[in-house]
Amino acid sequence: MRLFVAVDPPTTVAAEIEDHVSPLRARSPALRWTLPEDRHLTLVFLGEVPESRVPEIDRRMGAEVARHPPLSLEVRGSGTFPENSARARVLWAAVEGDRHRLTLLSYGLRGAARNSGIDVTRRPYVPHLTLARSKRPCDLGELRDRLDGLRSSGFTATEVRLVRSRIGGTPRYETIATWELAPRATDG
Ligand code: ATP
Ligand code: MG
Repeated sequence: MRLFVAVDPPTTVAAEIEDHVSPLRARSPALRWTLPEDRHLTLVFLGEVPESRVPEIDRRMGAEVARHPPLSLEVRGSGTFPENSARARVLWAAVEGDRHRLTLLSYGLRGAARNSGIDVTRRPYVPHLTLARSKRPCDLGELRDRLDGLRSSGFTATEVRLVRSRIGGTPRYETIATWELAPRATDG
């Protein structure tokens, strides 16, 4: 099964993002826009994993999450992949707040994935919520600029989800496990 690990913005924040995004969607209907309720902050993408691996992943990742404190975050600003917005494929909303702790959490979970025998990326972690994708590279600069004023309410992320992604499925994403961040955990 195809798996990833993510943090979700609360529904109030998802609604604030959507308020900002909906006028842009109307202007650029050719892009594939993510659904408001599906927008998430991926911590690690695991890819295709045999179902038999899931109990070990659940145990190792749950233990890792418990070593990290809840995170104070807000959705703020925007960006594209690749960074050159003139020929980009992904438009995203950025995240501010406990970015350093978020990155430590992501790298900790990558380690847990590797210890479970899953090969995960070694690229720098770029926290983002995907808003739209294009099949081909296109100029996303104007959309990105229009999102620069995006600033959500602050929120505290208290849990992390292991999610199954079903391409073409409904629902698109399915929660496999939920782990609580630990209020008294210190970094590292
Ligand atoms: P779709 O692929 O249908 O456009 P999606 O990207 O949301 O939708 P998945 O490809 O299953 O669905 O990806 C699940 C999550 O993992 C998304 O947040 C996606 O951005 C992220 N992701 C997917 N592939 C990678 C990758 N190679 N490296 C890092 N993150 C990835
Ligand atoms: Mg994808």
